[in-house]
Amino acid sequence: MALDLFLADEAATIRFGEDLALALKRGDYVALHGDLGAGKSTLARAIIRAIADDAMLEVPSPTFTLVQSYDLRIPVAHFDLYRIADAAEIDELGFDEALSDGICLVEWPEKGFGALPADGITLRFLHEGDGRRVEIDGPASALARIRRSLAI
Ligand code: ADP
Ligand code: MG
Repeated sequence: MALDLFLADEAATIRFGEDLALALKRGDYVALHGDLGAGKSTLARAIIRAIADDAMLEVPSPTFTLVQSYDLRIPVAHFDLYRIADAAEIDELGFDEALSDGICLVEWPEKGFGALPADGITLRFLHEGDGRRVEIDGPASALARIRRSLAI
């Protein structure tokens, strides 16, 4: 069963990222869907800082570089595919290697020309009033891990 959360403000998105970080493991692909300003980068930054155990870690947006990699306890690759030109770039960016090594967080996965796995953890951000709703879907085993980390 998919999960559904309301995040009232930016602080709630950050807390959600910190909890989610506890659930993630090597080989997890997290697809971050949502419009511009929906909160994808805010969440990715919170996950990366939590895994780094460093609340001040610089986490620049990979808008132009398409990927930023973090050599952490579990390596994390943060992709933003908004400006990707063709599917071959996903290979060139080293998506498969990054996934075998660690965790891949991908903003704008729908721009990936279907070259990304279909069995990832999917987060869908929607504007709701001044806050955001996030729908979480994925394999049952991943959802069970996430539910435990969120204590729901
Ligand atoms: P995206 O990467 O999806 O384009 P960003 O994370 O860069 O979005 O920006 C999201 C904006 O919304 C930021 O200004 C952030 O402070 C704000 N924000 C994040 N989460 C929430 C929330 N739950 N409620 C309201 N505003 C939020
Ligand atoms: Mg972003």
